Amino acid sequence: MNDQFDPDTLAIRAGIERSQFNEHSEALYLTSSFVFENAAKAAARFSGEEEGNVYARFTNPTVTAMQTRLAALEGAEACVATASGMSAILSLAMALLQAGDHVVASNGLFGATQQLFGNILSKFGIDTSFVPATDLDAYRAAVRPRTRLFFVETPSNPLTEVVDIAGVAAIAHAADAILAVDNCFCSPVLQRPLELGADVVVHSATKYLDGQGRVLGGAVAGRKAITDEVLKFLRTAGPTLSPFNAWIILKGLETLRIRMEAQSANALALARWLEQQPGVVRVYYPGLPSHPQHALAMRQQKSGGAIVSFEVEGGREAAWRVVDATRMISITANLGDTKTTITHPATTTHGRITPEARAAAGIGEGLLRVAVGLESIEDLKADLERGLRG
Ligand SMILES: *Cc1c(COP(=O)(O)O)cnc(C)c1O
Repeated sequence: MNDQFDPDTLAIRAGIERSQFNEHSEALYLTSSFVFENAAKAAARFSGEEEGNVYARFTNPTVTAMQTRLAALEGAEACVATASGMSAILSLAMALLQAGDHVVASNGLFGATQQLFGNILSKFGIDTSFVPATDLDAYRAAVRPRTRLFFVETPSNPLTEVVDIAGVAAIAHAADAILAVDNCFCSPVLQRPLELGADVVVHSATKYLDGQGRVLGGAVAGRKAITDEVLKFLRTAGPTLSPFNAWIILKGLETLRIRMEAQSANALALARWLEQQPGVVRVYYPGLPSHPQHALAMRQQKSGGAIVSFEVEGGREAAWRVVDATRMISITANLGDTKTTITHPATTTHGRITPEARAAAGIGEGLLRVAVGLESIEDLKADLERGLRG
């Protein structure tokens, strides 16, 4: 149905395959395996001669529905769902890379992604160069003969640096490499990396795709030649998405656009308000004209997104005061939820890297990150204002 319908419609209807009961809402198939009519059918299914479900580590109809819907939203040929965002990234790396290969990754990746490339894949002979996210020359200069993959995340966490997707895609393709974009912060509602030249998109579905903080999930979407390789790894290694989680995410996709738009509008209002507050030294939000890559962000994203970071005067003490003065906002490092969350990156998400590395990454002791939800903007301002006033 992809050619005929708008993404707004696909978010609600793509992937539906009704069973013999003609259910209206998508069915949840809680089954680990599937039965065959006879021995010959079983053999044909196992050999791949005949299409169909065999075992839920490979495929499950509820998971397939979610994959079809997300592929439609990303404008991807195919999608493979995984147990979490991290297993999506791991599966992509295992599918595309081998010992001796080299990866170019943007600085300021999600902490576990940085660990995966920097400390785990490196044990297996896969080397990663981390480059400043916004410096195209640095990506170009990092290319080696065995560079196979470029991996970027945009906007970055927590400083909301914006990577020029089309620019990095051109550099990757000139090097005969693949560009993967972690599209977690924007979701396909605000940013469609494949249209900008990326080859593959990865998601933590745990965040905006579910959107209500209920389940873990992940996905890889892109050309079928790539997702087929990911599926081969997945069906052997097993970090598959559970049907229940797929069903939750499938329903989450139906409200993704209205949530993203409303949460982004809230975030923009909050960012503008924060810029006016005494004691706030700097606000990091791609939707503000003061953001260094504002023009680029407005070209490749539909809005600034729902993550706002800001630096308060007075370091850790002042930042913790803002956190501790909240009565409604959740103090947690999670994001992508209808409930607004606040975190102090220097002592939570980025607490385990050295103070020097943190300073180099620009994550100061006065920095706070707010993942803006759907509550009333006036209540959000009041909840933050208490701590800002000191
Ligand atoms: C949360 C997150 C991940 C990891 O996803 P999980 O579902 O927690 O495994 C990867 N990338 C980004 C940008 C994230 O925010």
